[in-house]
Amino acid sequence: MKPKRSGKGRKTPVAKRAGVRPAAPRRKARAATRAAAAPRASSRDPRDLHPELARRWELARSAFASRHPELAQVFLTQSYRSAQDQAADYARGRTAPGKVVTNAQPGQSLHNYYPALAFDIAFRSGKTLHWEVELFRQFAVLAKSFGLEWGGDWKSFKDNPHFQPPGYTWRMAKQGIEPAFRVNA
Ligand SMILES: [Zn+2]
Repeated sequence: MKPKRSGKGRKTPVAKRAGVRPAAPRRKARAATRAAAAPRASSRDPRDLHPELARRWELARSAFASRHPELAQVFLTQSYRSAQDQAADYARGRTAPGKVVTNAQPGQSLHNYYPALAFDIAFRSGKTLHWEVELFRQFAVLAKSFGLEWGGDWKSFKDNPHFQPPGYTWRMAKQGIEPAFRVNA
């Protein structure tokens, strides 16, 4: 057992005295730990994305910020989605109240694999969230230039917030096939 440290080496709680809440660095440390192992909880952390997908998300995000500084800014609403949450989403409009939001059962969404192979987005300016189709369309132009596929282009089930590797399916993810992005970025 380690001997207890004396008060000497302890850090002065500067942040507390300055009126800054110490929550942010603590949250960061926890997220890093979680990303190291397959998480059980759903996430909006880009570190839970396939690294190449995460890299291209960041390229598209920063391109959007510099191209459209006047618009609401894009952020991630989902990277990894747990099987439990996928099941709850699938139940909506079927065995649970609400509208149908997905046709994917657990394992049938690219969000269900780890690291996740799809991400969902929304927009915000200050504390206001934005879901206007035009914003998704403008972001999609940039995302597609970095080799991403947009769910808003799908014919059967439009999914405006959704981006993923092009032509990639959950069956490919299940078989462990690596995604190909086709566009160098
Ligand atoms: Zn999605």
